[in-house]
Amino acid sequence: MIDLLIYNASQLITVKDSKRGPKIGEEMLDLGIIENGAVAIDKGKILEVGQSSELVGKYREAKKKIDASGCIVLPGFVDAHTHLPFVGTREDEFLMRLRGAEYVEILKAGGGILNTVKKVRKATKEELLKATKAHALKLISSGVTTTEAKSGYGLNLEDEIKQLEVLRELNEQGPLEIVPTFLGAHVIPEEYKSDRRKYIELLENVVMPEVLKRNLAMYCDIFCDEGAFSLEESEEILVKAKELGFKLRIHADEIASLGGAELAAKLGAKSAEHLIKVSDRGIELMAERGVFAVLLPGTSFSLRKPYAPARKIISAGVPVALGTDFNPGSCYCSSMEMILQLAVLGMGMFPEEAITASTLNSAYALDMGDRVGSIEVGKQADVTIMGVPNYAFLFYEIGRTHVKSVIKRGEIVYEAQGPYY
Ligand SMILES: [Zn+2]
Repeated sequence: MIDLLIYNASQLITVKDSKRGPKIGEEMLDLGIIENGAVAIDKGKILEVGQSSELVGKYREAKKKIDASGCIVLPGFVDAHTHLPFVGTREDEFLMRLRGAEYVEILKAGGGILNTVKKVRKATKEELLKATKAHALKLISSGVTTTEAKSGYGLNLEDEIKQLEVLRELNEQGPLEIVPTFLGAHVIPEEYKSDRRKYIELLENVVMPEVLKRNLAMYCDIFCDEGAFSLEESEEILVKAKELGFKLRIHADEIASLGGAELAAKLGAKSAEHLIKVSDRGIELMAERGVFAVLLPGTSFSLRKPYAPARKIISAGVPVALGTDFNPGSCYCSSMEMILQLAVLGMGMFPEEAITASTLNSAYALDMGDRVGSIEVGKQADVTIMGVPNYAFLFYEIGRTHVKSVIKRGEIVYEAQGPYY
């Protein structure tokens, strides 16, 4: 007797991980679809995948069964880029932006990231945990079962650790699986404004070693952009991070084309993220080194900026993943579904590419591809059921959520109320 059988799915989208690695270029179009599909789940893992006609008889005795008629079943989404541990919102700045203020102007005036830093420093660990848990639930309700999450609103030893400890605690509580990233180099905090060097030294000599010592994050990220860290500073900090034992991610070429993509390739970073203003050379080098492009179309949409050149990046052979960039400033969007729609309708990806990028490729971008990101025997049973008859509908019918059920490690962790289609 198995724990769970999902059957009668109009399309079971496995995103088959046939080459055991991220899908690149035209491989992204292959979703490994089984019509009228079924998935047998036991002890949190996928036991068998196939046609409903075969599996329904075989697993008649399943403890629980879900009839997914009229629905598609796909791997739980993996959100490759969020700033999850924060308190407070910044809709006042949003209004300023709508009236013409630039993001960098707001940042320089002590708003933006620094505004949230003040709130996060003031919050107790319990308050931060509560707020972050609410963010996690939002992600789950949009079909996300695994997410990356960055610190970067503490900007000192104590509060960066506080953010990362909150992530650890939340990950242990579940159901959302969280991959933490240290982003102490988000911006220079107010108190070091006149002495940037001193903050960089604090990061390198005190905060980064402590984060590693406590085993709170294996990735180190940096905001390499105008108003944040220069290319030279970024290289210095990331070289140090690599020496200490971190894997690297970079917020690159979002506001200005500083050469963050080239730096990511040079240092063998796992990913370069945003890439709105990435250079052709940067794309070429990323493809050569297998650096993931984590694209964040929600931020372009929210800031009313151009989108990253997704078609060029995919054609060049760079592995592409997607993220919400969920944060209280530039993109207050926790809907992975909407991110997929923007990836297609705004950024020019094909629906199949958006699904691959937000499942299997995002999983590999977080070094979790061997466990999550596709519906295959042996992988963790992380599954999202959407109330649409086929995957085209996810992009065709916009403006409302289609998530019906979300399953994490074989357990139903979210169920929406109908009707769905
Ligand atoms: Zn970000």
